[in-house]
Amino acid sequence: MPADAIKPGELVDLAPSIRRLTAFNAGTMTGPGTNTWVLGEKEIAVLDPGPASPRHVENIVDQAPGEVRWILVTHTHPDHSPGAALLAELTGASLIGPTPPPGDRQDSSFCPAVQPNDGQEFDLGGFVLRAVHTPGHASNHFCWWHAPLGVLFTGDHIMQGSTVVIAPPDGDMCAYMASLGRLLDLPIRAMAPGHGHWIDRPREEIRGLIAHRERREEKVVSAMDALGPAALEAILPRVYDDVPDRLHPVAALSLEAHLLKLEREGRARREGDSWRLAEGAAQ
Ligand SMILES: [Zn+2]
Repeated sequence: MPADAIKPGELVDLAPSIRRLTAFNAGTMTGPGTNTWVLGEKEIAVLDPGPASPRHVENIVDQAPGEVRWILVTHTHPDHSPGAALLAELTGASLIGPTPPPGDRQDSSFCPAVQPNDGQEFDLGGFVLRAVHTPGHASNHFCWWHAPLGVLFTGDHIMQGSTVVIAPPDGDMCAYMASLGRLLDLPIRAMAPGHGHWIDRPREEIRGLIAHRERREEKVVSAMDALGPAALEAILPRVYDDVPDRLHPVAALSLEAHLLKLEREGRARREGDSWRLAEGAAQ
């Protein structure tokens, strides 16, 4: 294990009153595990308490330097919010976050006292966090902005070490690209992601992610141009020829999201199970 590898269960100070505590759920989709952020001093706000893991939740309470008063989440996927109910039960903290939309990959146990609106600010004892609605990875995704430190908590909108999956119908590539672009308006100094390491060069990272998705979209257009009408399964290996086969089932979700974006823009058409370029949409 490299010296700087993320160790689940270890509280790490990364900025004044900002600490990372990674859950014990490392995996293909979660990298080293879900990052829970422990914020504040005497009064603590916990951001993304992670999966419903008693071990992790007890660890949060034990290692937090003060009383846990608030629990916030970025979105309600099963690796981010189910710990909220357990943590609230232990601490009596109040839950702030979006209600789960319909769908089987949603944490229906998450029942917030307060649902954020885009731009709404929350006074959390010694500091304020602003909700920034960033739909795309999930329709109810919020990043959380710590303006004085210039730190953006990005959840699964941006993770370190991997691009995120955009799984329709709740995931939406048009919305995702727009949400990425919008972040460039914030004077971000660092990003604290839901998975992986602290990101010190946020603008380069965001621009790189936008460019990556644009290149992927160009490959989708090229593949359809070469294949003519084709099923998603036939388009997939051409577009994700740089991605290991074992990840293709996941990549198929993001490919569908790209195709739906192109369809909405009038650049692709769907006929039954096959996709083709719209007239005049070739490169
Ligand atoms: Zn997610």
